[in-house]
Amino acid sequence: MPGRLVGQSTDAHGRPGYRLALQTREQHIRRDKATSNICTAQALLANMAVAYAIWHGPEGLQAIARRVNGLAARLATGLSAAGVEIAGTAIFDTVTVTVIGKARDIAEKAEKAGLLLRVIDADRIGITFDETSNEADLQTIGGLFGASIPDDASATLPGKARDKGFLTQPVFHENRSETEMMRFLRRLADKDLALDRAMIPLGSCTMKLNAAAEMMPVSWPNVGNLHPFAPEAHAQGYRAMIDELEGWLAEITGFAAVSLQPNAGSQGEYAGLLAIRRYHRERGDAGRTVCLIPSSAHGTNPASAAMAGMDVVVVKCTEDGDIDVDDLKAKAAQFSDRLAALMITYPSTHGVFEEGVRDICALVHEHGGQVYLDGANLNAMVGLARPGDLGADVCHMNLHKTFCIPHGGGGPGIGPIGVAAHLAPFLPGHVAGGTEQAVAAAPFGSASILPITWMYIRMMGASGLKRATETAILSANYVAERLKAHYPVLYKGRNGRVAHECILDTRVLKDSAGVTVEDIAKRLIDYGFHAPTMSWPVAGTLMVEPTESEPKRELDRFCDAMIGIASEAGKIADGSWPKDDNPLVNAPHTAAEAMADEWAHAYSRSVATFPAGEADFAAKYWPPVSRIDNVGGDRNLVCACPPVEALAS
Ligand SMILES: *Cc1c(COP(=O)(O)O)cnc(C)c1O
Repeated sequence: MPGRLVGQSTDAHGRPGYRLALQTREQHIRRDKATSNICTAQALLANMAVAYAIWHGPEGLQAIARRVNGLAARLATGLSAAGVEIAGTAIFDTVTVTVIGKARDIAEKAEKAGLLLRVIDADRIGITFDETSNEADLQTIGGLFGASIPDDASATLPGKARDKGFLTQPVFHENRSETEMMRFLRRLADKDLALDRAMIPLGSCTMKLNAAAEMMPVSWPNVGNLHPFAPEAHAQGYRAMIDELEGWLAEITGFAAVSLQPNAGSQGEYAGLLAIRRYHRERGDAGRTVCLIPSSAHGTNPASAAMAGMDVVVVKCTEDGDIDVDDLKAKAAQFSDRLAALMITYPSTHGVFEEGVRDICALVHEHGGQVYLDGANLNAMVGLARPGDLGADVCHMNLHKTFCIPHGGGGPGIGPIGVAAHLAPFLPGHVAGGTEQAVAAAPFGSASILPITWMYIRMMGASGLKRATETAILSANYVAERLKAHYPVLYKGRNGRVAHECILDTRVLKDSAGVTVEDIAKRLIDYGFHAPTMSWPVAGTLMVEPTESEPKRELDRFCDAMIGIASEAGKIADGSWPKDDNPLVNAPHTAAEAMADEWAHAYSRSVATFPAGEADFAAKYWPPVSRIDNVGGDRNLVCACPPVEALAS
């Protein structure tokens, strides 16, 4: 929930503005008490559902529902008249029929007629209608039971019909022509500072390119319209793709087996820890429940461990961000009898390849524990090193990070896990298949977006994947190198290099000019950039991950903006601009302010809105609101959705 609740707040000029409440993306991940953000919230899907409601409106939705219910009711009436037993009397879209011993027979006949019915057991069949069902389908199904379908049927909806209005807001009534709907969506898109305008340098998220060719298959009907429980024979293509992908991911990570079921990295963690727990239990080691987690871990790690019924013990980190091996040794020894697992992120959440990783894995094994490697940073490893070879027993891959599934705005994602051979029997099965430990409702999780990853790997090939990793690391080091004179780079390896992301210590501007990390983040909007990850994993810093997909020109534009901000802070420090009236504290600047008749600031309008000078003119991004009251948004969680007129005034 946190990170997906929208609060209504006001901006610096009293205009209403919406913001994600409590926690936005990575910024405020807590650790032990993690109420983590999850990149893979289903927000994107929620938006699709809302767009459906906006297009149809309440009348449209009711018309669809009545028609669907009408089809089901007519079938139920027809079958009853023909002496077929129907379960229940209150029917919405599904008719459950009892046909002793004949369920499979009838389903086979239906399949020959091009319809898939749900065989519940030998005696029962489920038949569901939706808005794509038609009169011919209804007649065919009636025929299977030797029933004739009446032209009409009395209502069969349960309970009391809805008598209060719903979806009363204007947005559900205004967009009734395709032209209007198109313009509405376009206006929304114009408010976004998205990847189609500029680099999104969020660290720890890997906002990499979602190439058009990777996305194409997802919208093909023969990929997108398959039911997750379609008979095997209808899903041979999917099966081939899934098998191939599992094989590739196993090869990339160095593991014996892969499960594609988990819907997110965090769910992969949960599935992986469950596998570890079952492994210990199966060996008579049920008491092994302690999970060691370094203090630098992503918030999902302790949350998943707690959900898997483990006891979290935090391991310290050293000054330079690495795991404190002495503390690890002490804790592993202290809990030797009870040690279940260590969760380690590699490269670390500080963006560094920790050199002791093999020794750390060996140490945990010596004490009878298993090693869970958080593979969210796999973008720095693919083609260069394999988690399995480092000594890890389980690892998740965030297909929505490293393998190109888009997740801006929240999912859907996939977080497959790879495991060493001894854990393979404990991979999540599927409930309907009779196996334990399922972590998702469908056997292959979000299978319909797997083609994105399949296409990516297939098109890149082994050499392309390796090149991408090298380029991602090079890009991060380029940014770190260009900016280090202005912002200290917090953590580095022995050779002075970072991995695929870098943490810029922006607290120097706080010390010299009172400029906060939020001022910098907001000012970046004036420069036409989405802010990097803020205050994670270290408060008051920015974490930048450029990925391999940004051209050098864009990296330079970003570095120039960061350097420009440092020099603006210099003008505050030397007294040229007052501390409470400068382009940083007032950022971002909207068009309404810039065009206002009044301008009473210590800096010019062009400094406010075109900080990079002429370079900005052609592609200016105008933010829809200025600085928003964060606390106000957190306190005003219940979005009453005032009518559009109220917002306009
Ligand atoms: C993103 C991330 C996770 C969680 O993955 P989701 O797919 O968002 O659930 C876990 N660990 C690290 C280091 C991450 O960056």
